[in-house]
Amino acid sequence: MREIDAETALFGLLGDPVGHSLSPFLQNTFMRQTDYNGVYLAFPLKKARVGEALRGLHALGVRGLNVTLPHKETVLPYLCGLSAAAQACGAANTLIWTPEGYYGDNTDGAGLLAALAEKYGWQASGARILLLGAGGAAKGVSAAMALAGAEEICIVNRSAEKAERLAEQIASLSGTRARALPLSALADGTLYESYDTVVNTTSVGMAPRADEMPPVDCSRLGARHLAVDLIYNPPETKFLRLARLSGARTASGLGMFLHQGALAFARWTGTEPETAGLEAQLEARLRRVANPDSARSEG
Ligand code: NAP
Repeated sequence: MREIDAETALFGLLGDPVGHSLSPFLQNTFMRQTDYNGVYLAFPLKKARVGEALRGLHALGVRGLNVTLPHKETVLPYLCGLSAAAQACGAANTLIWTPEGYYGDNTDGAGLLAALAEKYGWQASGARILLLGAGGAAKGVSAAMALAGAEEICIVNRSAEKAERLAEQIASLSGTRARALPLSALADGTLYESYDTVVNTTSVGMAPRADEMPPVDCSRLGARHLAVDLIYNPPETKFLRLARLSGARTASGLGMFLHQGALAFARWTGTEPETAGLEAQLEARLRRVANPDSARSEG
């Protein structure tokens, strides 16, 4: 790490909790790699103090912030503007210092697209996607996929009305066909013939409940499918393991996490960091620090 001096810029993560986060490791790795004179710290923050914290951090000139659960929506009223990506999903995960205040962006969706492009050359354009979940992550990912030209996105969620609302929102963003189905539709084996990409955006299967999985019939998946899980703790969820054993290509949430962080770093510093080899380092670190009783994936 470069020596800290009077010019060192401060960056940080706001969330509650943040003790589990891999972001300080990732962002400080980018700083070292690009010889950027900055340091990145994790700040645990209670919801009631978000406005006060943002005012203070801005006054001190803290150059850039990541925002994680549960503050991605809470920060919005305190920002001076929002990127199209942050507007489309109604949440910000990256804040950039400007003289007027913090400007909010969302790199989650673009991070997933970059990860899938790097790993498999996957492109959203023309893709037919079965998306499980309709929470915050689903909004970011589906908006990015729709804006990048996905042909169809079918949303399956436990709360049917949330799936319907998200399908309407996607349809209003682009020419992507969007439909919503109840969770029970996943039992219909013919459903899997209509889609090439299956993405789990729910938290089902996340440590410490890694023995659970969304009710996908993985025996219906094969070589023509790409199975994606946004969860990265564990690095291979039960859903991904069964999909892999059925012959599908798989991608864990670690690639998305790496690329959302790389995009945030580029927004703050104007420099694109090197991502090659970092996913394996993140995985090794996750395995080392994961405490199965308390570990929670960041998102
Ligand atoms: P969220 O807003 O709380 O949404 C959770 C989603 O999971 C909802 O669709 C919810 O369904 C569904 N769900 C939860 N428990 C369920 C259950 N028992 N059965 C069926 N569905 C269930 O959370 P989020 O922010 O979208 O995050 C979701 C996941 O994405 C987390 O695991 C998070 O770590 C991960 N994530 C990863 C990254 C990354 O960089 N890799 C980034 C962001 C998020 P209902 O609507 O019916 O409640």
